[in-house]
Amino acid sequence: MDPFGSYKFAISARATDNQIRKKSQDGGIVSAAYIHGLESGLLDGVIVADKGEDFCAIPKVATTVDEVLSAAGTKYTTSPNLSVLKSAVREYGCDKVGFVGTPCQVQSIRKMLKYPIGYRHVPDKIALVMGIFCMENFPYNGLKTIIEEHCGIKMEDVAKTDIGKGKFWVYSKWGDVKTIKLKDTHPYEQHACHVCMDYTAELADISTGSVGSPDGWSTIFIRTAKGEAFYKAMEEAGVIEIKNIDDVKPGLGLVEKLANSKKENNGKERAHRKEIGLPLPY
Ligand SMILES: Cc1cc2nc3c(=O)[nH]c(=O)nc-3n(C[C@H](O)[C@H](O)[C@H](O)COP(=O)(O)OP(=O)(O)OC[C@H]3O[C@@H](n4cnc5c(N)ncnc54)[C@H](O)[C@@H]3O)c2cc1C
Ligand code: SF4
Repeated sequence: MDPFGSYKFAISARATDNQIRKKSQDGGIVSAAYIHGLESGLLDGVIVADKGEDFCAIPKVATTVDEVLSAAGTKYTTSPNLSVLKSAVREYGCDKVGFVGTPCQVQSIRKMLKYPIGYRHVPDKIALVMGIFCMENFPYNGLKTIIEEHCGIKMEDVAKTDIGKGKFWVYSKWGDVKTIKLKDTHPYEQHACHVCMDYTAELADISTGSVGSPDGWSTIFIRTAKGEAFYKAMEEAGVIEIKNIDDVKPGLGLVEKLANSKKENNGKERAHRKEIGLPLPY
């Protein structure tokens, strides 16, 4: 089984700017790429998942550094980022759009680029597609149940959420840290995630996630010529600090293990759904 899809090379990296690292989820790679893009003119608008007051995710077109920073960090719930793509081009007048999304959203954007039905004038304005690793996601009410009922923190008080070391972590604005075992969050997952085979956003220009790298660093796959050119521009501008992926722990072995386990487990679920006559997305 091919765990990662095609890529040119992988590295471990983090943003050099402390302010970006403080606001971001992991190494701040998405925000650093977006900010570099906006400041250098490589991008003129980027699509983010902004935070609502009750920690919901709101897709938004960001055109300033402040907007990118205020939307940094992971929301473990659906954020239909593709829904504002047309608006970036037609309402904001952007010519060089940066996009970030989960692997399923990256698949959708690639499909849209090939068959742009209803997206006239949009495909040639997409300058960078960034994908984030994803094992599973939660509908908003599922996330709310985990955070409010299991962790005892109100949604409006959430500062950050994270997944790591077998647990789901909730950090409140007032300094509380609560956890729940990841296995106890499974009942709240989106059912569609159980037939999803892509862990590392295999169709992105650049994919990134925390797994494989030490805390505060990100694992990155540079996949396409466009992704490589953008990565080189970031490296030359000094906006990211880089380590050889073979020199970091736990390294690509763990990413491979997780990517393969997603494909194996969800492959079984796909076979089961097919057998009982349920439809599959692809
Ligand atoms: C549902 C989900 C599951 C994930 N599972 C894993 C995993 O199993 N292993 C792993 O290594 N990484 C996982 N990640 C990715 C990880 O949490 C970070 O998003 C990633 O490492 C990027 O961190 P960063 O510091 O570079 O990004 P930041 O600089 O913090 O930027 C993150 C960007 O992503 C956008 N964003 C936030 N939430 C969403 C969302 N729900 N949908 C679309 N865009 C969003 C933000 O607006 C921001 O622009 C997951 C992310 C999500 C959303
Ligand atoms: S697991 Fe797959 S379907 Fe679910 S949010 Fe992640 S990429 Fe999308």
